[in-house]
Amino acid sequence: MNKGTDVMSLSRDEMETWMQQQSYPKYRGTQLFESLWRQRLAGYGQISAWPKELREIMSRTAPFYRLQAVTVQKAPDGTRKILARLSDGQQIETVVLPHHYGYSVCVSSQVGCNMGCKFCASGLLKRTRNLTAGEMLDQVRLANDLIASEEQGVSRVDLMGIGEPLDNYDNVVRFIKMAHDSHGFNLSHRKFTISTSGLIRDIYRLSQEKIPVTLAVSLHAPNDALRSQIMPVNRAYPITPLVEACQFYFAKTGRRVSFEYALLAGINDSVLMAQQLAKLLEGLSCHVNLIPWNPVPEHPFSPSPPKRVEEFQKIVQNRGISCTIRKELGQNIEAACGQLRRREDAAHHIEL
Ligand code: SF4
Repeated sequence: MNKGTDVMSLSRDEMETWMQQQSYPKYRGTQLFESLWRQRLAGYGQISAWPKELREIMSRTAPFYRLQAVTVQKAPDGTRKILARLSDGQQIETVVLPHHYGYSVCVSSQVGCNMGCKFCASGLLKRTRNLTAGEMLDQVRLANDLIASEEQGVSRVDLMGIGEPLDNYDNVVRFIKMAHDSHGFNLSHRKFTISTSGLIRDIYRLSQEKIPVTLAVSLHAPNDALRSQIMPVNRAYPITPLVEACQFYFAKTGRRVSFEYALLAGINDSVLMAQQLAKLLEGLSCHVNLIPWNPVPEHPFSPSPPKRVEEFQKIVQNRGISCTIRKELGQNIEAACGQLRRREDAAHHIEL
């Protein structure tokens, strides 16, 4: 048996082939996939449909590592923030959010992030590696385990945690396809949102994948001068071709694109900026999500006052563009991504 196979990142078809290569029947592959993702078993020892000998051989030759929750913070509104340890000891964050329709999970795609957005907590920790498809799936598993007593599973997945998902393109697409499998989490493609800082080339690639997920573009500024200041990625991928790529994505997938806009007092929240944003997006089938910014102590910004947020929304809406203000969840638990992990890292360094 091939030691070192990343069992948790194998699709069901690949598991079937892999089992056959080890001279086991094909259906053992499906049983393993179901054990990992539908039943969420902790190890081979729990696969009761398997003979003892097979369980022992697999435990020895193809071990897998489940994410370990280091801490779980729960806010009064039901939001849970998990700090989880990976097999190599690095840590990531996953957030489980309650909604009227059930739960969503905000999944991290990388350990750290290299995009360097000036308002973001995650960007303070540089990327050390990409997450595998299995590690992203296991965040969904962990979220489901946490809410198991409520007799409902996660019904939406947002790739909005730490990392730039399109900078880990192949693993992210693999993750979505595996989570879609009816023998696993059985989540429709429409239940996924990929949030990107605007990697244009990969938006075009994604539009060809036949996985019509929602694309959420972190825009945060309506012109290149400001966007390049607060999002360095804009220097390589400016706004006009980015909006063209979004138009193409909609034409190919039929999915309305979301634009995320975190309002920073005195930076990007003026009447003029709202007018520029409305002009930029006029005629595009899209939705604007205004985000009350969560303060990050290391950054010099402050959130726009609620009245300003509402004025901004009205200006955009009056130009015929769908625009909502995101509900703030998990206010008491350091909900800006990256904060929990940095605090733990700091505590660890002090101990050393
Ligand atoms: S906003 Fe997203 S892309 Fe930008 S630094 Fe933070 S995690 Fe990375």
